[in-house]
Formats: sequence, structure tokens, C-alpha cells
Amino acid sequence: MDGVLLEDGFPADRLFNQGYSYTYDDVIFLPHYIDFPTDSVNLSTKLTKNIDLYIPCVSSPMDTVTESSMAVAMAALGGIGIIHYNNLAHEQAALIRAAKSRRIPFISDPIFKSPSDSIDSIDEFVPSPCIFVTESGNSKSKLLGVVAKYDWESLTEKEAPVSDYMLGSPFSAPSNYTFEQAAAILAEKKLDYVTLVSEPDGEVVDLFTATDVERVRGFPKLGLPSLGRDGEFMVGAAMGTREHDKERLEHLVKAGADVVILDSSQGNSIYQIEMIKYVKRTYPELDVIGGNVVTAYQAQNLIQAGADALRVGMGSGSICTTQEVCAVGRGQATAVYKVSSIAEKSGVPVIADGGIANSGHIVKALVLGASTVMMGSFLAGSNEAPGAYEYQGGRRIKKYRGMGSLEAMTKGSDARYLGDTSKLKVAQGVVGAVADKGSVLKFIPYTMHAVKQGFQDLGALSVQSAHNLLKTGVLRLEEQSGCFLSQLSYNIRSHFFVGHRMQPALML
Ligand code: 5GP
Repeated sequence: MDGVLLEDGFPADRLFNQGYSYTYDDVIFLPHYIDFPTDSVNLSTKLTKNIDLYIPCVSSPMDTVTESSMAVAMAALGGIGIIHYNNLAHEQAALIRAAKSRRIPFISDPIFKSPSDSIDSIDEFVPSPCIFVTESGNSKSKLLGVVAKYDWESLTEKEAPVSDYMLGSPFSAPSNYTFEQAAAILAEKKLDYVTLVSEPDGEVVDLFTATDVERVRGFPKLGLPSLGRDGEFMVGAAMGTREHDKERLEHLVKAGADVVILDSSQGNSIYQIEMIKYVKRTYPELDVIGGNVVTAYQAQNLIQAGADALRVGMGSGSICTTQEVCAVGRGQATAVYKVSSIAEKSGVPVIADGGIANSGHIVKALVLGASTVMMGSFLAGSNEAPGAYEYQGGRRIKKYRGMGSLEAMTKGSDARYLGDTSKLKVAQGVVGAVADKGSVLKFIPYTMHAVKQGFQDLGALSVQSAHNLLKTGVLRLEEQSGCFLSQLSYNIRSHFFVGHRMQPALML
């Protein structure tokens, strides 16, 4: 390279100032110059002004995406999960506590019985190889014994209460043991499983088995976990902007939430501005993420109110119908670029929220100015998402629903879509399903590797360097023609119907 850039393609400020609203698929980057290997790309980034992440991934606060299991896995990967608030405040706090009580990257959710219960069928052992007996019959109580599947199978009187045949308390380890510490115990004591027990109360938190060790060892190596100031997994929580949300906030803070997101589809409101100020005044140490916004004007208002990061996207989600119902929103590529250009001046990181269907979309979001991406559908088919797998047309699927769908709003999420005080509820989202994708512990590392390859093609060594290359006009883009896009969708054969849109089943 002689240092002279031949004029080709459009610099971002020209492309995004033509009066068009571009989605991710409408634009494409031109390749730049490679002078480093893929593994040199560093994707560590900022979630908020004060929170660093090892990977730029955030799971959406949706009731079919983020509860404890997802939060644990995302933190173990170096990202973060944001626990939804379609529940009572104490239930949301319990989900945060559950995630924070672990240092192992998954949750096995064992089954509990009380001593007088019986086990009706072998199916009760499906989630785990043994059933625990505690005083109250649930996890929040002292462990009395255990029934292993193979012992139950050999019983002649299967209807007898478990107290008649359970074995005494199995070997246990503290629940805050890391994966390697727990695996070492299994190996040293030659055990099939160990119970993870909270200290000092002795309540069973989880079950850790030799099969888990094998499974996790088969996954790509984990990077640095996201740990909060308390040394525990970092967990975020969503909340609304109503008066009663101040009480919820207190529960969240007591449970140890490391960051809160004010969850609103149109964040530029007096309610949100007042709530940002309240959070900063009441809990100066707690970072607060504002949004959603898609324009520079909206962003400016929330930045001035004190937001520590901005969530960007309106109508970009895969299950979202806001643009159709309300005629308001913006193409996500344009929204991310416009908001990031303003937010960057105040050092406020941007979270590109919604519309991520493949690793290429993540590259586009990050290069266009975002510091992280927030994903719903991309994660909803994973083992860690709430809910059980079902079969539909011969495929294993998990339910995925918009928080503004009538179904979710009936359960309580209507505050986000300003529906809780209206008599009529208007849906801004749909209910659908996504294909089984296995564990996020496996597919997120692959996805991150694909993102690094995209960065390498662009000659960007880090998220910050990508932002600089875009700002200085070194990186160039073009709009893609409709023909190009139909060729692209023809090439992607693994589509799966989701709600009212087509979503790729798995794109790595
Ligand atoms: P996805 O990753 O599935 O494309 O989008 C997830 C994002 O869509 C969420 O983080 C949230 O911002 C947004 N979202 C979730 N539910 C709804 C809904 O029912 N309606 C709208 N308009 N947006 C939604």
C-alpha cells in the first residue's frame, strides 16, 4: 500500500445522509487491507461508561430469552444477560440472585421432592440423573437425601415415599465453585456427580455431573467471564419508568444487579428522563441504560439526563410490528450510525438492539458505531433460553415471543408499549418459534470468531479501531440492490418460519 486511497464506495457520512433508512441487509462494507491474523482481533468492549465486557454480546430482557440460565451463560462467555421484568419484583430479584449464586457456566435445574413424596415415573428423572430430597420439597431448604435414577429403576415398590429408600446426603461442594474447581472434585473423589450447596445455609443450588464436565470441555474455550464489583457473575435487569418501578429498583439493587435498563420502545420521554435522574441520584454507583432511541435528538436528551449507555432500535426486532402498527421507527443500520455519531462525542456506548440474524449483522452493528449488540431471536432457540423444546413439523423448536405481543402483555409487559393504562391493548409484536440451536456456550464463540474474520477483512483490530476507520472515511460502504438481496436469501437455504418473518435457523 502506498498510503493513497483510491476513491471507491461511499464514506458512512455520505451514505447515511441521503434520506434513506437502511437496515443491516441494505448496506455492505467494502473490504480494506489485512496485515494481522484473525486471532489478533480483540472484541472486548464497553457495555456502559463504567462496565467492560470481553465480548460484545447482550441478551434481550425478554421472557423467552433471559432468565438465570441465560444470564449465567452470557456472563461466563464475557457478555451479559439482562433479566426481563415480565414478573413480580421479588421474582425478578430471585432470578438475579440465582444467577449470581453460581460460578459455573450452566444451570441444570434439578428436581426436588419432600420426604413424603413419591416418584411416579422415570420421566421425572429426565432433566437430571438424580432427584433431591429436601425438607420442604424445593431448593430453598435443607438437603436430606438423594435418589439416583438407577436405584429407583431397581425398586420393587415404586409408589413408596422417597424417605423409605433415599440415600443420605451426597457429597457437596460450595455453589460458588468455578467449573474447574468442581470438575477437580469429581475427578479427585471419582464421583458421578456433586451437589452445589449455598453457604452457610446448606440449600441445594445445583447439580454438577461428570457428563456436564465432558459436555463443557467439548465446547470452545471460554474467555474472561464478566464479573461484577462483588466478584460474582455480572447480571443486568430491565425495569419500567413508572412510579412503582422505584420499588422494583430497590429489589434489583438488593439482589445485586450490576446495571439496569429502562425498557421502553420510545425512550425519549419525560418519564424516562425523570427515571434516569432518579436512578443516578439514588444509586450513584449503578449504571443505567436508556432507550430505545433511533435519532440524534432522542439520544441527546437521554445523554443529558445522565444515561450511561443507549439502547438503539425501534421496529428492528424480528418479532416486532411497531413500524407496521405505528409507522414510526428507523432502519437499524441508519439508527445505529446516527445515534452512535452523537453518543460517541459524550463517551456514551451504544447497544444495537434487535435485527441480529447472523454474524454479519453483528459486524455491521459494531462497525457502524455500536459497542455491543443485544439479541433476542439469535439466542431464543438455545438450551439456556427459558422454556422447554417442542416439536413443530418435525423440527425441535422453542417458543419466542415479542414482549409487545398480546400474549406477553397479558402477563404484564404492557408498560413498555404504553398499554397498561389503556383499555384497549394494541399488539406491537408477535408470537413465534425458533429452531433448536444447542448451547450458547458453543455457538456464541463460533459467532465471535466469524465476527473477528469480518473485522480482519476490514482491517480493524478492535471495536474502537473499527469506529475510527469508519469515522475517518477509510472504511467504505455501498447500498445493496434488491437483486443482490434476493440472491442472498436464495443462497440461505436453512430458513425457518418465525412469526411473520423468515429467520435463518442457524448462521455461523
Ligand atoms: P431480535 O433480536 O429478535 O431481532 O429483537 C429483539 C429486540 O426486539 C428486543 O431486545 C426488544 O428491543 C425488541 N422487542 C422485543 N419484543 C418486542 C415487541 O413485541 N415489539 C417490538 N416493537 N419490539 C420488541
